[in-house]
Amino acid sequence: VTVPSVDLIDGASMPQLGFGVFQVPDDEAESAVATALENGYRSIDTASAYQNEEGTGRALRGSGVPREELFVTTKLWNTEQGHDNALRAFDASLGRLGLDYLDLYLIHWPMPARGTYVETWRALEKLKADGRVRSIGVSNFTVETLQRLLDETDVVPVINQVELHPYFQQPGLRTFHREHGIHTEAWAPLGQGHGLLEDPALARIAQAHDRTPAQVALRWNLQLGNVVIPKSVTPSRIAENIDVFDFDLGPSDMAAIGELDKGTRFGPDPATFDAAG
Ligand code: NAD
Repeated sequence: VTVPSVDLIDGASMPQLGFGVFQVPDDEAESAVATALENGYRSIDTASAYQNEEGTGRALRGSGVPREELFVTTKLWNTEQGHDNALRAFDASLGRLGLDYLDLYLIHWPMPARGTYVETWRALEKLKADGRVRSIGVSNFTVETLQRLLDETDVVPVINQVELHPYFQQPGLRTFHREHGIHTEAWAPLGQGHGLLEDPALARIAQAHDRTPAQVALRWNLQLGNVVIPKSVTPSRIAENIDVFDFDLGPSDMAAIGELDKGTRFGPDPATFDAAG
């Protein structure tokens, strides 16, 4: 399988589909990431908070895939915000991954009440200027927190990684991204196991295309232009989730899925979430 790339506003590009490792224990991350790489995934999404950067790094380094063909993302955790903290956190993440540069570094949550995301972003700008990370972006940012970054800092985030699936479609945020050249990356594209994949409309569309509901949910996100990072530790599902580039949803399928938006999240609200654990 060859995954298409998307062009980022800083001139870099990234695979439109990657592999997420949230909730994968470190000792399982190595085999899960290795399986993903064998199936053609080249983009891997981890985070300092996932505590599996070491296992992920072992799989990346042991895979035989040339470094320049890999696209590695990690994220700065809430407790690591602040300018100098962020510089130290980056070194620690890179060390755990065992890499000498990163492709994409994200601020995991904005924590707007603390207001430290602006000085944190300045540190990411420095890491990019120093060539230690190719691209910098954010995660779980809202229109308000993105606007403040755009107003007060120099580098536009290449991407905002947010909860986005047929039950939570984020139309307003996607429009804002488009207006500013920020790419949308969907986390929980499969609805995290909360019943999305049992939806009757997804089942009907899946049956019509001889596909699974998971593949339809991913295809919908891809056809919106978003980057997706589905997670699984089951080899057959890892293969299934990347096998989504040889069929198209028609306009009526896209419209029917568009109707499924409930406008409610499964995950935390970024306006208030500030867990420091
Ligand atoms: P997801 O939507 O990818 O769902 C994963 C779950 O779906 C699996 O645990 C499994 O139970 C099920 N599943 C996977 N493939 C399936 C298939 N083919 N058929 C049926 N069921 C299937 O949820 P996620 O892991 O939360 O999100 C994906 C990735 O996004 C994460 O691994 C992580 O990298 C990232 N993420 C980021 C944030 C953030 O705050 N930035 C938050 C959550 C997740």
